[in-house]
Amino acid sequence: MDIQRPEKTVQPMAVVDASSEAPLASRESSMDGGVLVAGAGPTGLTLAIDLARRKIPFRLIEAAPQPFAGSRGKGLQPRTLEIFEDLGVIEAVVAAGANYPRMKLHAGPLWWHVGSLGSSKPATDDMPYPNLWMVPQFRTEEILRERLEALGGRVEFGCALVDFTHDDGGVRAQLSNGEMVRADYLIGCDGARSVVRKRLGLQLVGETLAEKLTLVGDVRVEGLDRRDWHVWPFVKGGAVGLCPLPGTELFQLMAPASVEGRIEQVVQEATGCRVAQVAWSSTYRAQVRMVERYRVGRVLLAGDAAHVHPPAGGQGLNTGEQDAYNLGWKLAYVLRGGPQELLDTYEAERLPVAAAVLGLSKRLLQTQSLKRGDLTNQLGLHYRASSLSNGSTWGRLHAGDRMPDARLEDGSRLFDHMRGAHATVAVMADGTKILIRPDGYIASIGTAEVTEYAGLGTETVYTGTALK
Ligand SMILES: Cc1cc2nc3c(=O)[nH]c(=O)nc-3n(C[C@H](O)[C@H](O)[C@H](O)COP(=O)(O)OP(=O)(O)OC[C@H]3O[C@@H](n4cnc5c(N)ncnc54)[C@H](O)[C@@H]3O)c2cc1C
Repeated sequence: MDIQRPEKTVQPMAVVDASSEAPLASRESSMDGGVLVAGAGPTGLTLAIDLARRKIPFRLIEAAPQPFAGSRGKGLQPRTLEIFEDLGVIEAVVAAGANYPRMKLHAGPLWWHVGSLGSSKPATDDMPYPNLWMVPQFRTEEILRERLEALGGRVEFGCALVDFTHDDGGVRAQLSNGEMVRADYLIGCDGARSVVRKRLGLQLVGETLAEKLTLVGDVRVEGLDRRDWHVWPFVKGGAVGLCPLPGTELFQLMAPASVEGRIEQVVQEATGCRVAQVAWSSTYRAQVRMVERYRVGRVLLAGDAAHVHPPAGGQGLNTGEQDAYNLGWKLAYVLRGGPQELLDTYEAERLPVAAAVLGLSKRLLQTQSLKRGDLTNQLGLHYRASSLSNGSTWGRLHAGDRMPDARLEDGSRLFDHMRGAHATVAVMADGTKILIRPDGYIASIGTAEVTEYAGLGTETVYTGTALK
């Protein structure tokens, strides 16, 4: 596929004042050349940041009237941290989080440690973020919103996508504030109950792994040791877990849904400590489900709207982040005149990844395995079979692999040069040129000079012998 075409100018979107006196159904807004992103969870926020830094017009609408308050997806994988570095939020994410604590099992007066779901390995030249990093989801979302605002974007809270039609020319969407919006593309980042998915008639295919509901909540427990992730496996009715959440005074509570309405009592009985606050709680059922298509014409799905995961292995939020990161540069190029078929590679690349990750989460849940690390860090996920991956191999690197970081002779890191919207050409000491896509995956390995990729000039960096 030719993805080296000249740029065209994208018209800024025009929005009609929503407070106008016109009757609701006829209050028309236009978004010529823009993207309508439905849902401002981690996936929608990440996509919006990527579009904002590429100066692509978009609107990010969110049905909820205010930000999500729960700690839910608290495990950020090493690959997500690399993406966060590129998007300019890594310092805030590192400051907000911590390594996973050890798990401490309690049985009456007895207790013992059983290891940790995370690790505390030192960073290496090729892997700057080797460990699973814990940040409560509400904090991750807050950091992403702050970054979006710094780039001039914002979340439109209390504004839901109600319905839409689409054809070859674009999308017409009805919003809950009465606006009718025209966009070039609609991206459904609207979570597991996605309106976008349902209106497209796509099913979430898969299975429910546990019929019983599980409760997840955020609680403040007075006097409970915050060094460990406490688990009481033998509580009547089902295990109770309390994980200290970094940067807060809260613990994430996991318990059978039957404790709903008596959280304080159940936690006090297990811990012997008083619950001072229940900040948030919700229930979920462990499922592995995904759609069979990510794209129908001008409408695409990303994140939980396309795949739902059990919490085991901490994959759901991370997989959504990477959907958005895979899609952002492709959307930007297509909107600047690149070939529409580029968007087909989004499904071709991301659907097999979601399937593999769901299989992994299912195994981890069913075996109750604590094994994580290389299995779950998402660094080994690749697009080798993609039509965008070309050329020979170089050492252990194949076209389609994640490009590892490297410490260069001048002290800089390869990732410093890759940061931003552009693609990068890494020139090895033997003259081999590795073309790295804007999302950090190897597009090709060979000897050809590439000066432009996906409509932007490439940055060339001499890596010499830094990569082995
Ligand atoms: C107990 C638990 C633990 C978890 N732990 C982890 C973990 O450690 N690591 C991990 O990676 N994942 C974890 N997950 C999964 C993670 O929380 C989700 O995968 C993640 O929230 C998905 O992000 P998203 O942006 O795709 O969807 P959501 O976070 O669901 O966001 C969708 C947004 O769309 C909005 N919306 C819905 N309908 C509309 C509409 N019509 N118009 C506009 N907006 C709309 C919603 O209000 C919501 O804000 C966990 C989940 C649970 C339940």
